[in-house]
Amino acid sequence: MGSGQVTSWQGKNITVAGLGVSGISAARALAGLGASVTVVDGGDSEGHRAKAAELAGLGVSVRLGDAETLPEGTGLVVTSPGWKPDSPLFRAAAEAGVDVVGDVEIAWLLRDSRPDRKAAPWLAVTGTNGKTTTTQMLASILRAAGLRTAAVGNIGTPIIDVVLGEEEYDVLAVELSSYQLHWAPSVRAHSAAVLNLAPDHLDWHGSMEAYAADKGRIYEGNTVACVYNVADAATERLVEEADVEEGCRAIGFTLGAPGPSMLGVVDGILVDRAFVENRQRNAQELAEVADVNPPAPHNIANALAAAALARAFGVPPRAVRDGLRDFRPDAHRVARVDEVDGVVYVDDSKATNTHAAEASLAAFEPVVWIAGGLAKGATFDELVQKSGKRLRGAVLIGADRALIAEALARHAPEVPVVDLDRTDTGAMLAAVREAARLAEPGDTVLLAPACASMDMFANYNERGDAFSDAVRELAAGSA
Ligand code: ADP
Repeated sequence: MGSGQVTSWQGKNITVAGLGVSGISAARALAGLGASVTVVDGGDSEGHRAKAAELAGLGVSVRLGDAETLPEGTGLVVTSPGWKPDSPLFRAAAEAGVDVVGDVEIAWLLRDSRPDRKAAPWLAVTGTNGKTTTTQMLASILRAAGLRTAAVGNIGTPIIDVVLGEEEYDVLAVELSSYQLHWAPSVRAHSAAVLNLAPDHLDWHGSMEAYAADKGRIYEGNTVACVYNVADAATERLVEEADVEEGCRAIGFTLGAPGPSMLGVVDGILVDRAFVENRQRNAQELAEVADVNPPAPHNIANALAAAALARAFGVPPRAVRDGLRDFRPDAHRVARVDEVDGVVYVDDSKATNTHAAEASLAAFEPVVWIAGGLAKGATFDELVQKSGKRLRGAVLIGADRALIAEALARHAPEVPVVDLDRTDTGAMLAAVREAARLAEPGDTVLLAPACASMDMFANYNERGDAFSDAVRELAAGSA
């Protein structure tokens, strides 16, 4: 089942792994095309049964309470992105010689299946951090250029529904996680970017090499541009290793002055030395750093990557500027909450790993850092070594806070640390009060936990909301 090949789904026996959003979308679409679909899921709750009843109405069988054995006669397995490659179901599929692919692969194979229109090309984004932000910035730029587009993939409407839906698009901005790339062997983007590569999800992929290889898949078969991060040599290596179409170019982005075939920054201006005539001598102004929201260094890098993909698609410079100006980041991503007594409070609850926290700490100085939660096997030495000198103080919360405390003691012993030994609902207010006590006017208090939130909160959204509520309470008290 290669790319470009017309696949007949009629009567094909397909097993869909997982009764989640993407699994349901895949099951509905494939059944609609005449496939014989069985969804399997290890759960068997009332919620599962309600979903199963709904799918039964569409002719989809659902097998609950067994996620491990391969249904008899399966010809293809379509998995939800979170399922680990070593799951028993996939081992059974391998033994039976049955392919396993993800919903993104199915979307790619189906993209040309509507007779009334041409498939929209994909501009694809991956990386350890910054994917959602960059994909949304890209969509905003494409929209500013008058193109019909949507940000899809790891965000928004399931990608199969977008590809088959009524709405017509000129181009799609596609966020792809490493999991999705792993299960999408034939996707061929028009152009793609890998923003950065740092250890994450290694338990899923098995090793850093396997993780990098899955990320690198995004460049396979690109036709116009492979966009890499000049400051992250691993991303450039992935471009070198990729098998691309004749004439496809490697385009770098950098926070410094750009060389030829790069986008970069000169005197507070985002400039393009890649998609201009005579790039040895010319550069095109795209936007000002101040047009990027928020103008933190890592986010300027995201803006440059989005701009590179848009320019590869032929978008004019003015649309880059307008699209960046229109862009509003999702909540809990370096979001300014308030200023209280001359101290600015910033919520980056989405900084759930050390690489993300390092990026947001680099945007502020001096900073009182609120951190901690579930470390997911991470170590904090490098983060503290790089960021310790910016710290006015640190307030530590959550299950694995001792790991951060030890790293601070080793590499930044002069930084005052408050170790908050509580996990009740009032803990965040206590953390914010402690941070306020450590901060001086002109400082920033930054929630950038470098950890997952599930030890104390349902998710990072709830953690960020608790922080904002606490800041509001602090402001009310000081008024
Ligand atoms: P993803 O979709 O990859 O999780 P997001 O755009 O949601 O990325 O951003 C998640 C967090 O990662 C942000 O809150 C910020 O802390 C951090 N971040 C964003 N962009 C970058 C980047 N280019 N480099 C490092 N960290 C980043």
